[in-house]
Amino acid sequence: MLGIVLLGAVYLLPFITTGKNTEAVDPAAAYDTAPESVADGLIPANSGFEGKYDKAKKVTVLISGQVKEMTLGEYLPGVLAAEIPASFPDEALKAQAVAARTYAMYKIRLSELGKAPPESHKGAILCDNPKHCKAYINLDEKAAELWGSKAEEYSKKIKNAVKATDGVTVTYQNEPIAAVFHAASSKKTENAADVWGTDTPYLKSVDSPGGDASPKYSAEVTIPITEFKEKFLKKYPNAKLDASVSDWFKASRRSEAGGIIDVEVGGVRVAGTAIRELFGLNSTNFTVSHKEDSITFHTTGYGHGVGLSQYGARALALQGKNYEEILKWYYKGVTIKKPV
Ligand SMILES: [Zn+2]
Repeated sequence: MLGIVLLGAVYLLPFITTGKNTEAVDPAAAYDTAPESVADGLIPANSGFEGKYDKAKKVTVLISGQVKEMTLGEYLPGVLAAEIPASFPDEALKAQAVAARTYAMYKIRLSELGKAPPESHKGAILCDNPKHCKAYINLDEKAAELWGSKAEEYSKKIKNAVKATDGVTVTYQNEPIAAVFHAASSKKTENAADVWGTDTPYLKSVDSPGGDASPKYSAEVTIPITEFKEKFLKKYPNAKLDASVSDWFKASRRSEAGGIIDVEVGGVRVAGTAIRELFGLNSTNFTVSHKEDSITFHTTGYGHGVGLSQYGARALALQGKNYEEILKWYYKGVTIKKPV
């Protein structure tokens, strides 16, 4: 890794990591989640939720293009199966279950308070697009395919995590929070304001252990210079990419967690999230190096870096923390509401 980085003639800021690619994880991908969620708007304080939770209430979810109706008890195991490795410790799975339930309640509350779901939802409150809401799979149908001989054990673990926390939500000023999560942070999580530009009181940068256990903690994306120019100029036609590549990237602004807030590329200021999206990077925490005919992004962490880190939850659970402590670690100033 170090050798490769040093071969490059330029990088934004010296930010070399020594992440280890260790442990294999389940085939269930730990997806990224919901960049739009906090931009949907925060729920005004004390709008009437106060932890009220009706087990029998059904929610509509757009799954593979079809609107389905189910209770959160039926929905959540399918979210966990799609979003987090089932091999993770039980307290990490419980923290994930509460985060996913809270996120669903957040969307339900937005809809109750009169915010219509986006057109792409076909009228449903939630969808199964991990880039918008949460990924979802039918656990009973897919368990064998996902986990083979461990299908029964892992299905049970996931269902137990949902059941053991039934009705528990995370609230801020008595309303469910936008409980976003991601696979693995660098050493710290990101401030929501640095990633999405929306200051969110409970989504602040915190120390986050254990990210480097993710096989995707350190990664690279190499792009031929010609392809980089073509893609970038298509999106930013005012950029000037005629000079030497070493002059393209300038004046980057990094968050305290290490992510690129924005950077000047060919004279145009571009958000780190836009570069991440354009070139399919694992995170906004990147450095750049180049050779004569190619440019390489070196990333640290996997996901947007805001809110709960799944690998962080795993590390905290392995240290003996319970799910409530894990949730309060990642979401600042919140209350864990038990069902009333
Ligand atoms: Zn959605």
